[in-house]
Amino acid sequence: MSEPRLVPAPEGAPERVQPPVSEAAAPFWDATRELRLVLQWCRACERAIHFPRVACPTCGGDDLAFRPAAGTGTVYACSTMPAPGNPGMAGRAPYVVALIDLPEGVRMLSSIVGDGALDVAVGDPVSIAWEPLADGRHLPVFVRA
Ligand SMILES: [Zn+2]
Repeated sequence: MSEPRLVPAPEGAPERVQPPVSEAAAPFWDATRELRLVLQWCRACERAIHFPRVACPTCGGDDLAFRPAAGTGTVYACSTMPAPGNPGMAGRAPYVVALIDLPEGVRMLSSIVGDGALDVAVGDPVSIAWEPLADGRHLPVFVRA
């Protein structure tokens, strides 16, 4: 895998709201401090799970573990926001909200950022990038591959 890519917030944009951390999601967020994308997996049915939770949504099993993810994906759906969808996104418009299909078999809600973000289309390959958060975590975002 290539070096983790950092993407700072746009100049003048307010800091992102700090995403809350559930007990189940703590390992996911801890890994973002080191720019590592991990996904929760069910050891019983061998399926990836996202977002992290306390039981497998497929089989109900609770033998769950976090494993490294490839950090790649394909755009399943995308929408360009011409104005901030909420006050926390002030200074960022226009921006792209997207659903990303990961090769591990889960779909992640995120943003497409960086060069050509506004031209992204369904089916485009993307790769992970990281926006720093004030508390040392990083928000997973995606750039066009
Ligand atoms: Zn399962």
